[in-house]
Amino acid sequence: MDIARHWRLRRQRYALEGEQCRHCGEYIFPPRDICPHCGEEAGPVRRMSGKGEVYSFTVVHEPPTGYEAQAPYAVALVRLAEGPLITAQLTDIDAAEIKIGMPVEMVTRRLRTDGEDGLIQYGYKFRPQLTTP
Ligand SMILES: [Zn+2]
Repeated sequence: MDIARHWRLRRQRYALEGEQCRHCGEYIFPPRDICPHCGEEAGPVRRMSGKGEVYSFTVVHEPPTGYEAQAPYAVALVRLAEGPLITAQLTDIDAAEIKIGMPVEMVTRRLRTDGEDGLIQYGYKFRPQLTTP
């Protein structure tokens, strides 16, 4: 990943910044130009709570380059409290303990180390909620 793209995506990755449509009120993540719910112009920017629940998940045993050290790991589709579905790695849990519908929350963790330049990318993962809301 090039540096410019890294910085452009930084606020999405660290702050879970999406949008709330000013026309229909639906939450949108990741941010986009046009609201997928009503077709009007999307925005303004809204920060997601980081709370959600596991909608579905899969366990990765043969990871892509850069992720080998973490395998096996679980990747989930998380339904955010605000509504959008996002794909994220689960952390701080054994794959055998993951259940559909379990409450999870966002944490910022190391995602991968890039090649020989050693650029480490951080971003969001989800872990089981420590306290139920
Ligand atoms: Zn809309």
